[in-house]
Amino acid sequence: MSQGIFFYTDEFQHYDMGPQHPLKPIRLKRTYELLSCYGALEKVEVKEPEFCTAEDILTTHTREFMDAVSHLSCGDPVPYAMRYGFGTGDNPVFPGMWEASLLYTGASVDAAKAVNSGQYRIAMNISGGLHHAHRARAAGFCVFNDCAIAIHHLRRRFEKVAYVDIDVHHGDGVQEAFYDDPSVLTVSIHETGRTLFPGTGFVQEIGEGKGTGYSLNIPLWPHTDDEIWLHAWRKTAVPILKAFNPDAILLQLGTDAHYLDPLARICMTAQGWLEAVRDIHAMGKPMVVVGGGGYNPTTVPRMWTLAFGELFGVELADETPESFSFRHRIPTLTDHDMPQIEPHDREIAQAYASQTVGEVQRLLFHHYGL
Ligand SMILES: [Zn+2]
Repeated sequence: MSQGIFFYTDEFQHYDMGPQHPLKPIRLKRTYELLSCYGALEKVEVKEPEFCTAEDILTTHTREFMDAVSHLSCGDPVPYAMRYGFGTGDNPVFPGMWEASLLYTGASVDAAKAVNSGQYRIAMNISGGLHHAHRARAAGFCVFNDCAIAIHHLRRRFEKVAYVDIDVHHGDGVQEAFYDDPSVLTVSIHETGRTLFPGTGFVQEIGEGKGTGYSLNIPLWPHTDDEIWLHAWRKTAVPILKAFNPDAILLQLGTDAHYLDPLARICMTAQGWLEAVRDIHAMGKPMVVVGGGGYNPTTVPRMWTLAFGELFGVELADETPESFSFRHRIPTLTDHDMPQIEPHDREIAQAYASQTVGEVQRLLFHHYGL
C-alpha cells in the first residue's frame, strides 16, 4: 500500500482559455517534463486518466449547469449563459471545454478511486484543484469542481475526509459543497477576501447546521512571508487537522502564494510552501493530491516537482537537470532570491495574521477540545 500513482496526459493541454488568459496549460506539461528529466516518474506508476461520468458531475453540480457546459462547448446557443458564469474574462467559453473539463475532473476521480482501492497511498493529479466552481456556476477559471467530486468518491470508502487548500485564493466552491457536512473538514489558508478574489474565506465562516465547526479559514494580508504564514498555519490548521484526525485527505496544491506570482500578493518561497506540504504528508494519511492556481511559468513546475519529491519520497537535487534548465530557465527547485518586503508592510501582515490566529482559536478550538 506504499505505492504512488500520478495521472497525466498531454490531452490536459486542451483546457485552454486562450493566449491572453492567465491560466496556461503549458505549466502542466513543463512539470511533467521536469519530473521526467529528473527520472522521478520512474518511482511511481504513471497512468492516463479517464473522463469522469455525468453521475460524478451530478454529485456536486446541477443537471442544468452540466448541460449548459456541454451545449456551450460545441457552440450551441444557451440562453443567458452568463448566469452559469460563462462569457466573462475569467471563464470564457472555449472549443472542447466539455471534454477538457471531464478529463481534469476524471483524473481527480481516478486518483480518488486509486486511493479507495487501498493499492495506492498517494495519488496525484496536477491538472485538478479547480476549487472555485460552484454548484450551478463556473468561476475563477474553474468549470467543474473536481475537488468536491473527488471528495464525494473518497467518502464512499472513508468516514472522515479533510480538504486542505494552500492555494492563495479561498477554496470557496469546496467549502460551499460541504458547508453543512460534519464528515468533511475544509481548511483554506489564503490571501484575505478583503484584497483578493473570490472575496470570501473569513474566519467567521465556520460551517452551518451539523457542519458547524467543520469549515476553517485562515485569511492573511498581502506581504505575508514564509515565517508569518507557517506560524499562522501551525497555530491553527495543523492542530485542528490533527484533532479532527481524518481517514483520508484531499490536498489542493495551488502555487500562487509564491512571491513571484502575478495574481496575488502573498510572499512565500517555494521551500516555505513545501513545509506545509510536509506537515500534511507527516500526518500519514491516504491522500489525493491535486494542483490548483499558479500563474508564473517559472515557479509552478518547480513547486509541484518539490511536492512530488516530498510526497513520493524521491530525492531531487536542487539544481535542475541541465537540459531542462537550459531550455526553460529554471536553474533550481528552491528559491535562492528572497522576497523583498518593506518592514512596515511586514508589520501589517504580522498584525493581521495574529488577529486571524486569535479569532480561529477562539471560534474553533473548543470544538476540538484544544
Ligand atoms: Zn489560486
